[in-house]
Amino acid sequence: MCGKYVLMEELTWYEYAERVKKDVILLPVGSTEQHGPHLPLGTDAIQIMHFSKLAAERIGGIVAPVLSYGYKSQPKSGGGPNFPGTTCLGAEALIFAVRDILKELIRHGANKIWIMDGHYENAMFLSEAIDMALDETRAKDVKILKNCFIEFLNEDDISTVFPKGFPGWDLEHAAILETSLMLYFRPDLVRLDRVVADKAENLPPYDIYPAPKDIIPSSGILADPTDASAEKGEYIVRRCLEEFEKYIRKEFD
Ligand code: ZN
Ligand code: MN
Repeated sequence: MCGKYVLMEELTWYEYAERVKKDVILLPVGSTEQHGPHLPLGTDAIQIMHFSKLAAERIGGIVAPVLSYGYKSQPKSGGGPNFPGTTCLGAEALIFAVRDILKELIRHGANKIWIMDGHYENAMFLSEAIDMALDETRAKDVKILKNCFIEFLNEDDISTVFPKGFPGWDLEHAAILETSLMLYFRPDLVRLDRVVADKAENLPPYDIYPAPKDIIPSSGILADPTDASAEKGEYIVRRCLEEFEKYIRKEFD
């Protein structure tokens, strides 16, 4: 741990220059997307930013400014485009934005980078951006990791958080996971009186374009959030941080 600040935007360039070559740089990527009647549009970005900050505090890393836009919300994982407020990037824009940010970090001397993905649909576009940044900089001795922090949870964790059954991470949208995390990170932003027990049933085993309005609940909730709690949020964060720290040591020590 060197220095008390973890957010890049709170560092001076002198402090950043001193730390960038030795610290792990975390790049959180979220989305701006509907999250039902009870969670804010910035849920993915807010969650991944808070998680990245706690993770960086734990290991003495630096959190680059969160990218609050992500790839297009899909009906079967985020409700799709038919909601006011859902504001997405296309593939090229997301790939090039992340590629350019990575190239800048590498130019500064960053060599240990972890992309924290907070939005289900981003995954493969982030992979493409990483490939392009590594190719185009011909960076040697640079290692970039990427995951969605929920990938740290094992089967025991999943049965602890979802004792009544796990719908799958794609359908965990505005549901138990995200409502619990927001109750833990930002309870002031959760409209508990607006929680409804909706769930997406009878989804077709294929995607439809243009996205129809009637295959998911009109609330935008894809799985029942009513068993969410701040305690579950705290448990998820604690378990993910434990695993994160373990893998940081494995990959970067
Ligand atoms: Zn979300
Ligand atoms: Mn999302």
